[in-house]
Amino acid sequence: MKKTALFFAVMAVFTLIAAPAFAVRYVTIGTGGVTGVYYPTGGAISKLVNKKRKEYNLRMTVESTGGSVFNVNALMNGDLEMGVVQSDLQYQAMKGIGAWEGEPQEKLRAVFSIHPEIVTIIAAVDSQINGIADFKGKTINIGAPGTGQRVNALDLITAAGLDPKTDLQTEGIKPAESAKMLQDGRIDAFFYTVGHPNGSIKEAVAGARKVAFVPVEQALIDQLVAEQPYYAAANIPVAPYAGVANSEPVPSFGVKATICSSADVPDDVIYTITKEVFENLEVLKTLHPALAGLTKENMLQGLSAPLHPGALKYYREAGLIK
Ligand code: GLU
Repeated sequence: MKKTALFFAVMAVFTLIAAPAFAVRYVTIGTGGVTGVYYPTGGAISKLVNKKRKEYNLRMTVESTGGSVFNVNALMNGDLEMGVVQSDLQYQAMKGIGAWEGEPQEKLRAVFSIHPEIVTIIAAVDSQINGIADFKGKTINIGAPGTGQRVNALDLITAAGLDPKTDLQTEGIKPAESAKMLQDGRIDAFFYTVGHPNGSIKEAVAGARKVAFVPVEQALIDQLVAEQPYYAAANIPVAPYAGVANSEPVPSFGVKATICSSADVPDDVIYTITKEVFENLEVLKTLHPALAGLTKENMLQGLSAPLHPGALKYYREAGLIK
């Protein structure tokens, strides 16, 4: 009897004093390959939030992942609380098309969008790829399963009237390895749907094998933009890439990187993170050059899944949404 009473007394004291101190909420944000823009951006957001981890009892950690498609699936099965997702894939997951054919991801929630991403094709000059039709018979890394670029590459190749199974040799290599593969002569070109500037492409253009961005034909851009609500025409900047063979911005098309979550993640967690990001936007913009163009207004564009209620609460408070 005495022992039982003592046990409960100890438990009660523990619950009152010690437990609240342990009640730290962990939020993992899924990003992409370490040489992309998602990973350092996830790191920058985490850094902002973790500055106040004592005040918020919130601890953010950043995880390198396979990319957009992987992140949607990990959000939906509860392995991640937040994730970076291309706007086109957010749309497809929400609608139940593409990789989620017939299975709309009902719990997917949008939080905010970040930088624009451009479908970028980086080719060896000696491979003589001057347009999509020249992919015929070539070895092209379309991106590993789980990446956004793989979806965009297949879209573009199919729109150009090529059969990705028979007209070319496709590879599914991670972005971090693409630059080396290109320099080693094991592939002719690789796709990367990514914000500019970024490390992988800098690495690819810095080698001995001369490299160029492949322009997407205007008719193909027009066709894709007309067919899909989430594609927009965009030009790849060449200035950040010393050594690239192009001298003018290269026409292509693009999407936006967005931050997503799940309806299962508590409102106050998403509210706190959203508020911290928006109130420190000037700091965030300096943490990666691809984030320099962010504004509070453009961070609410490109979202197709329902807004997470925690984010919506902040946008209403801040007067960004009525
Ligand atoms: N857009 C790519 C993807 O969804 C990732 C780009 C990056 O890591 O910056 O897989």
